[in-house]
Amino acid sequence: MRWPHYEAGCHVSDPNQLTLALAKKVLERGARFDAHDVREIASQDRGIVLSYGDGSRETFEAVVLAAGAWSQPLAARLGDNIPLDTERGYNTTFPPGTLGLSRPVVFEGHGFVFTPLDTGDRIGGSVEFGGLKAAPNFKRMDVLLRRFQEFVPDAVLQGGRQWMGFRPSMPDSLPVISYPTQDRRIVYAFGHGHYGLTQAVVTARIVTHLVARTAPDIDPGPFSAQRF
Ligand SMILES: Cc1cc2nc3c(=O)[nH]c(=O)nc-3n(C[C@H](O)[C@H](O)[C@H](O)COP(=O)(O)OP(=O)(O)OC[C@H]3O[C@@H](n4cnc5c(N)ncnc54)[C@H](O)[C@@H]3O)c2cc1C
Repeated sequence: MRWPHYEAGCHVSDPNQLTLALAKKVLERGARFDAHDVREIASQDRGIVLSYGDGSRETFEAVVLAAGAWSQPLAARLGDNIPLDTERGYNTTFPPGTLGLSRPVVFEGHGFVFTPLDTGDRIGGSVEFGGLKAAPNFKRMDVLLRRFQEFVPDAVLQGGRQWMGFRPSMPDSLPVISYPTQDRRIVYAFGHGHYGLTQAVVTARIVTHLVARTAPDIDPGPFSAQRF
């Protein structure tokens, strides 16, 4: 079998470091970071009221709802029934350099990829419709590791850290980047499925325009919350 080699291919060597670096920049520019469990979002004349798990509330001029796979019930509070589901995915990260590959490899048609990260050699993939509450089923990862070893028999599959995450997925594989039906002081930004890291910058650009009520340089029409 011939596999294509993408000369211009590149990858993020550490998603955590990227996220921390972006957060640092944003904080340097004057942002404030507060962690809250948002239970309710209400559109009122005086502003958008968020109710938190600790019983407190805050009112804002504008709100971006970007709660990944957990966004659906909050959007429903605003009157939008959006068919967001989660495709759960798995990965295992082994000590750096132990799997014998020096570059990312997509095992096309086999449902998994290999990525050499700064933090370790990662094998990831799988799509599981298991909802937001069920415990991870790491037997799925065992299947991927067995398949990987068929391609790379010398790989040392020991000392791996397992992980399961929730892709926020839409039936048409397009995100929702949009005003809710009833209030243009709120912007939805969720549903990026398998490509949320890749698409984050472009999404942020569109969101910036929607919050500022200026015209985005990319047509947001295909990402409308009203398309269903
Ligand atoms: C195994 C796997 C591999 C992947 N590989 C890639 C890849 O190679 N490239 C790529 O581009 N993408 C990849 N993705 C997809 C990517 O991770 C997602 O698309 C992306 O994380 C979605 O970003 P998000 O900010 O919308 O949601 P999330 O990253 O899920 O963030 C949502 C945040 O909202 C918070 N939240 C939820 N509910 C509330 C609430 N009520 N109150 C307060 N906070 C709340 C959550 O705690 C979370 O921090 C992968 C996903 C998985 C699972």
